[in-house]
Amino acid sequence: MDGLRNTRIEKVEVIPIRAPRKEAVRSGLNPGDPVSASEFGVVRIETAAGIEGLGEISITFPRLGHPLCRFASARIAPELIGEDALAAGRAPARADRLLEGVEGGCHPRAAIAMALLDAAGKCYSIPAWQLLGGRVRERIPPAWGIYQKAPEEMAEEAAWAVREGFSAIKLKVGRRLEDDVRAVRAAAQAAGDLSLRLDANGAWRSAEEALQAIHAFTEVARVEWVEQPVPRNPDLLRRVREGSPVPVMADESCRSLRDAFDLAAARADDVFNIYVAEAGGPREAAALFGFAGSLGIQCIPDLGHAFETFGPLRYAKDIAAAPVRIEGGYLWPPEGPGLGVELDWDVINEYRV
Ligand SMILES: [Mg+2]
Repeated sequence: MDGLRNTRIEKVEVIPIRAPRKEAVRSGLNPGDPVSASEFGVVRIETAAGIEGLGEISITFPRLGHPLCRFASARIAPELIGEDALAAGRAPARADRLLEGVEGGCHPRAAIAMALLDAAGKCYSIPAWQLLGGRVRERIPPAWGIYQKAPEEMAEEAAWAVREGFSAIKLKVGRRLEDDVRAVRAAAQAAGDLSLRLDANGAWRSAEEALQAIHAFTEVARVEWVEQPVPRNPDLLRRVREGSPVPVMADESCRSLRDAFDLAAARADDVFNIYVAEAGGPREAAALFGFAGSLGIQCIPDLGHAFETFGPLRYAKDIAAAPVRIEGGYLWPPEGPGLGVELDWDVINEYRV
């Protein structure tokens, strides 16, 4: 327990990186503006005893990653110096005050919370998941996500995902309806027994437009759910849910416990898409899971759906020295202390901007 000798935060670095993607992101959020590299940031804290804590600022839309890195470096980092890395509630609360009203502020907030959790795990020499209550499964089945492109390319990728052993396939929809239907039909034929989840990223402007699309999709594919059919508005989402033959998932509409409460109060969705970053950190994401569970929504530990944890496979190079193991249709959480991740500094220095 050497790490416990002095847990005072002595150093906070925010490193903006530009990570080239294997394939540009094309979705209902960015028609005509594909994202070929992610503008992210790595937050690195260090305690007086030399324990490191790592977190990431990972926001793709809107493209605010680097401005948020600059804000975190100039405004938040100095405030964290001297804080106790084991006082998990205090440093994020300081960040919250500084980030009030800042667009995308949940991302640097989450990066700090991740870094503190990582450092705490390393101080106690246990994996971060032990600090969150212990793991409920040894491995998790990831889904695979397919961006908008020609229907035959989407079908080819769906067939690849089946061969690789993924448990579910998510398609980005939200283009012209006839293009979407051709893509969904082609991917469904290639997906065999796997059902499809369809993510419009809020592209449909009205409940009527969304329902027309959803009904067309269910004629050509087995649809697990439709994700964020309309923009961020609980009443609009509820109207889609009421007319939809398949479950409706909230993603962009569900960024915080408050959002989840508003969605539940409006009976606007069947499924919550929970991100560590958008929730503001790992503990906050766990709180969202707890809330969903209290509504009777299938949840950890009995979640029967594939997880969308395919991020590391999207990049030309991994910034982790030992990549997270994803194979044979499963992802294994790292076993090392904290988050169990060490940076590959050659890649970080190459991607640093
Ligand atoms: Mg989504």
